[in-house]
Amino acid sequence: MNNKYEAVIGLEVHAQLATQTKLFCGDSTLFGAEPNTHVSPITLGHPGTLPMTNKKAIEFAIKMGLACDCEIERTNYFARKNYFYPDLPKGYQISQHTTPICKGGKVKIKTDQGERFVQLNRIHLEEDAGKSIHDIDPNNTCIDLNRAGTPLIEIVTEPDLHSAEEAWQYVTEIRKLVRWLNICDGNMEEGSLRCDANVSIRLKGEEKLGTKVEVKNLNSIRNIKKAIEYEIERMIKEVENGNTIKQQTRSFDANNDTTFSIRDKEEANDYRYFPDPDLPAFVLEEAYIKDIGISLPELPEALINKYQQVFGLSAYDATQLCDEKATTDYFEKVIHHSTSYKSVANWLLGPVRQYLNEQAISFEWFTLSPILLAELIELVDAGKVNFSIAATKILPVIITENKSPLAVAENLQLLQISDSNELEKWVEEAIAAMPDKVAAYKKGKKGLIGLFVGEVKKISKGKADPKMVTELLEQKLQ
Ligand code: ADP
Ligand code: MG
Repeated sequence: MNNKYEAVIGLEVHAQLATQTKLFCGDSTLFGAEPNTHVSPITLGHPGTLPMTNKKAIEFAIKMGLACDCEIERTNYFARKNYFYPDLPKGYQISQHTTPICKGGKVKIKTDQGERFVQLNRIHLEEDAGKSIHDIDPNNTCIDLNRAGTPLIEIVTEPDLHSAEEAWQYVTEIRKLVRWLNICDGNMEEGSLRCDANVSIRLKGEEKLGTKVEVKNLNSIRNIKKAIEYEIERMIKEVENGNTIKQQTRSFDANNDTTFSIRDKEEANDYRYFPDPDLPAFVLEEAYIKDIGISLPELPEALINKYQQVFGLSAYDATQLCDEKATTDYFEKVIHHSTSYKSVANWLLGPVRQYLNEQAISFEWFTLSPILLAELIELVDAGKVNFSIAATKILPVIITENKSPLAVAENLQLLQISDSNELEKWVEEAIAAMPDKVAAYKKGKKGLIGLFVGEVKKISKGKADPKMVTELLEQKLQ
C-alpha cells in the first residue's frame, strides 16, 4: 500500500442466531428445507398477524454482548425499518434503532503487530429477509421465504480497523466467539455469518474520515480480505489520479477478486423508523442479565492464560487447544483423569487430531472415552508402550472398540519389554549387525549410541524399552 495513505474500515457482521424458531413466530429456522415450507402467515407478513418475541434470541444477543464487554440496554424496543424489497413481505424489517441491545464493547485481535482491541459500536437484534434466487429460472427471480424472520445479531464496529489483514483477524475472532458461545454455527457457506465492509482512505495523520464505500454481503473470510484489499488499491488510484471517491454501495465479484458499484448513495436512506406498535418495549432485569453472565462458558482468552500459567503449557499449545470449544471441552475431560497436562496436550494436538483429520470429523463427534485416552497416555509416560506404537496401533483400536489400552497392548503384544534377557538378545543382535560402527564408537564417536538404540528398536519392532536399551548398550560397548 502507498504509505501516504491510511485505510479505515468498519465492519457490520450479521450472525444468524442458532435458535430453533424465528425471531417473532414459531416457524423453524432449519437450513436447507424445501423452499417456502417454513412460512406461517406471520412470516408472510399477512395483515392482522401479531409477532411475539423469541426469548432465546434475546438471551443469545446478551451472551454476545457480555462476552464483548458491551453495556446491555435495559429498556429495549423493536423498530420498523421501512423499505420495499421483493423478499421482505411486510414492507418493513423489524430491527432495533435507537436502543441496540448491546452498546460499545470490544473484541481482541491478534496480528503480526501484536494484540489489540477493536472497538465495537453496538450489537443489535433484527430479523433476516428471505432469499431472492436469480440462477434457477432464466426469465424470473424465485423467492424463498424460509429465511425471512430468522433472528440475526448485527455486530457493528467503530471505524477502527486499518487493513484487510486486521479485518480477517477480526472476523475470525467473531466466528470463534459465536461458536464458543453456541449462539451461531458460524457457517459462512450457509450464510450464517455475513459481512458488509465499509472502507475509506485518508492521508496519514488526517483525523477526518474519508468518504466510504460499503461492500455488501461478503460470505467468506477470504472474500472479506480480497474485497478490502481491492477497495483500498482502487481508492488510492482514484485519489492519486485527482478524482474524488464517490459514496457507493458495491458488490464483490469472486471470479476476479474485484468489486463493482451497485448504487451511488447520494444521501442517507430514510427508513422512517418508528417503534413497532405490535411489540411492546421489553425491559431486562438486572438479575436476568446477571444469570446469563454466570451461564457463560469461560472464554478462550482466559483459558489460554490459565493453561499456560496453571498447566505450564506453551502459548502455542494453549492457543491451539482453545481454538474450538469442543477441543477444549475434551481436554478438560481428559485432565480429570491425568495430571500430565503437557502429554495430554501433545496427544490431542498430535495423534488424536491427526486421526480426526483422517476421518474428517471434529472433536465434537469424538466418542473415545477420556478415561481410556488418559490410560493410554499413562502407559506411554510410564514407558510401558512406545509413543509411536501407541499412536498408530493402539489408539485406533481403543477408539473403534472402546477397550482398555492395556488389554489391547497385551493382546497385540505391544508392551515394551523390560525383561533383560530378551533385551540383551536384541542388543547383541544390533551390535553384531554393525561391527564398523562398534569400532567407531569405541574410538570415541559416542554419538553413535542413537543409531544402536534405533537398530534395537527396529529389531524389537518398537517393543524394547529405550531407556533400558541405552543402559545395556553403554555397558556392552565399553
Ligand atoms: P450507515 O448509516 O451508512 O450504515 P454507519 O454510521 O451506521 O453508516 O456505519 C456503518 C459502518 O461503517 C460502521 O461499522 C462504521 O464504523 C463504518 N464507517 C462509518 N464511516 C466510515 C468511514 N468513513 N470509513 C470507514 N468505515 C466507516
Ligand atoms: Mg450499513
